[in-house]
Amino acid sequence: MTGEQVLVIGAGVQGLTCGVVLAEAGWPVRIRTEDRPRATTSAVAGAMWGPAQLRPAEPVLYWVTRSHAEFTALARDDTSGVHLCAGRMAARFDLGDAVPTEARLIPDLRRCTPDDLPEGFTSGYRGTVPLIDMPRYLDHLVARFRDAGGDLQLSPVPTLADAAAEASTVVNCTGVGARELVGDPGVHPVRGQHVVVRNPGIDEYFVELTDSGEFTSYMPHGDRVVLGGVAEAQEWNRVVRPAVSAGIRRRCAAIEPRLGEAEVLEELVGLRPGRESVRVEVEHYEGARIIHNYGHGGCGVALSWGCAFEVADLAEG
Ligand SMILES: Cc1cc2nc3c(=O)[nH]c(=O)nc-3n(C[C@H](O)[C@H](O)[C@H](O)COP(=O)(O)OP(=O)(O)OC[C@H]3O[C@@H](n4cnc5c(N)ncnc54)[C@H](O)[C@@H]3O)c2cc1C
Repeated sequence: MTGEQVLVIGAGVQGLTCGVVLAEAGWPVRIRTEDRPRATTSAVAGAMWGPAQLRPAEPVLYWVTRSHAEFTALARDDTSGVHLCAGRMAARFDLGDAVPTEARLIPDLRRCTPDDLPEGFTSGYRGTVPLIDMPRYLDHLVARFRDAGGDLQLSPVPTLADAAAEASTVVNCTGVGARELVGDPGVHPVRGQHVVVRNPGIDEYFVELTDSGEFTSYMPHGDRVVLGGVAEAQEWNRVVRPAVSAGIRRRCAAIEPRLGEAEVLEELVGLRPGRESVRVEVEHYEGARIIHNYGHGGCGVALSWGCAFEVADLAEG
């Protein structure tokens, strides 16, 4: 910890979590963001803590493990937007017996019996995981950041040189925006769309495990349920597509008929920051240390606490 100002760029889940960890460690922190927290991709996410099959494999395992502990603790706080939820992760093919290492963190993980699988699904697991109601959770992070003395400004950062001129330590959490800010052509959008409905009484989640661009997921958060999903690579369009929403509802209703009739509250689009591997590393640039933290794909929430603690370690030098 020093008295030196840190500039965090971005107020999605990564930027805000880094802001909280750094500010609570005593750093003076300013976050500059182009979009309000509730207008980021992070606000669109479902969101579920779950196994993260991303690269680099070893740090990702550490980040997702560390985050599981934080989210489990946050679930004890009613105001955080996090709760522990039972449900199923299922596939239309045989998942085999091997489970990702981090799945062992799920205390009650067990294979679904054939009776526990929806029609068309071949195998799956049942278990309790943290579910994160993102709009509420981002509000919680903003409040926690401000309570720790952090300063949040709605002000885009035009170039890394501007950031380096403002602070000697910069944390770059710009998600898909890193493509332009850093000039990293490896960052690409993976478009997602959600339909949010009034909860007709659902208290378990369902997530389809697949590599396909279309899948079925629903996650209850109190009076709302977030329905998904799609993953459209290289697609920048943020406009809601009615046909995609209709497909999402149809697939969800096939598993949970009550979702077919539920009142639609909103439809949302977000761009997952795809990259071959997550980038958490220091770059020395125009006299400043830029700590990059972007490219978390479809797992940015699940990795957020682990990445933020790693960023804080890098800031400490
Ligand atoms: C439909 C959908 C479902 C998902 N479900 C899950 C899930 O269940 N679990 C999970 O872990 N993840 C999930 N994700 C992925 C997750 O949402 C992302 O990985 C995560 O939100 C990325 O967070 P971020 O903070 O890096 O980026 P973002 O949330 O995109 O935030 C980027 C921030 O940078 C700012 N910014 C960009 N450029 C500049 C600039 N030049 N100057 C200033 N500010 C700038 C933006 O304004 C924004 O504040 C899902 C994503 C989608 C779309």
